[in-house]
Amino acid sequence: MTTLQTFDRARSYLAEQAPATPVLVMDLKVVAERHAEFSANFPGVTCFYAVKANPQPEIISLLVRLGASFDVASTAEIDLCLAAGARPESLSYGNPAKKARDIAYAYARGVRLFVFDSPQELAKLAEHAPGAQVFCRIAAASAGALWPLGRKFGCPPEHAAGLLRQALGLGLEPVGISFHVGSQQLDPSGWVVPIAAAAQVFAEAGLPLRLLNMGGGLPARYQGEQPPMSAYGETILGAVARSFPGAELDLAMEPGRCLVADAGVLRTEIVLVSAERNQDRWIYLDIGRFGGLAETEGEAIRYRVATAFDGGPEGPAVLAGPTCDSADILFEREPYTLPLALSSGDHVDVLSAGAYTTSYASICFNGFTPPEVICLD
Ligand SMILES: *Cc1c(COP(=O)(O)O)cnc(C)c1O
Repeated sequence: MTTLQTFDRARSYLAEQAPATPVLVMDLKVVAERHAEFSANFPGVTCFYAVKANPQPEIISLLVRLGASFDVASTAEIDLCLAAGARPESLSYGNPAKKARDIAYAYARGVRLFVFDSPQELAKLAEHAPGAQVFCRIAAASAGALWPLGRKFGCPPEHAAGLLRQALGLGLEPVGISFHVGSQQLDPSGWVVPIAAAAQVFAEAGLPLRLLNMGGGLPARYQGEQPPMSAYGETILGAVARSFPGAELDLAMEPGRCLVADAGVLRTEIVLVSAERNQDRWIYLDIGRFGGLAETEGEAIRYRVATAFDGGPEGPAVLAGPTCDSADILFEREPYTLPLALSSGDHVDVLSAGAYTTSYASICFNGFTPPEVICLD
């Protein structure tokens, strides 16, 4: 269970140091705790941290020290991991659409594990990463996920066995299957159908496949309820045991959000509280959709927030960012309930903000710089 205590170290730092806002404070102890929780609930499963969730170098170095592997999607993420001390064999190039020259770059740096989901990508891999290990991403449903990922990548499962055999014919080493059930997946049983589909591919392919990469999707603690990580471990590993009886597998997952989100507190400052629009109270923060709160798109991810006035009288408030773009409204359809005492200059702390915030921030849209990141050892 996460309580506000999770954020104590970060909020004490903010109280003592009062850094300029917006600022994201990451508590590396919480990252280490979450990594330990993952290892305890997924024994024998290799953790490939999805770097895009938060590419802060201190986080990558910590995870290298903890023995994690990495899911990377670009040459910049490869360089970042190698600079932080990751071995090239611990990297999985998990983006199904890679430029030929980026494949060659990765291969030259020693990366030997690549994903694909099309024959066109296989041809590029055969040419620029000869002999590399490849795994096929199959499409999986994202029902139950607050941030679905299903539409963009993944071939129909019935194509996978043929593509893996084709990989062998091209001189590559086909090693297995991956899928992704969508991010912030609140239903542990969301993994059951794709695991069974992967087992079918293994049976059909007639190849010595071993890798079952079950992607990301494990949740962070936002508003509402999330099943505990133990529920995911039991359901997912139970499904593997049922679908692959007696098989010797290399199991992998690619957690992003669940390792870093709860380690982060994003301190924002209120720029303006105004009631000029239909009497509604609007609170404008110094960070919005473009400064890192991109996952408020569609009001999909609803962060918990904390202020100095919590416990006092409250009322509804629309939350918006500081830019002049009308897409920069965070929560309007379902307003937040916030203390009535809040006014310009007060802080609103966005909790569990360590994932998909700084990595999503624009460079400086409308002149608003993205948050600085401070890591607490
Ligand atoms: C983004 C991504 C992840 C991480 O997903 P989370 O929901 O943050 O755990 C894992 N694998 C792939 C291929 C991704 O694109």
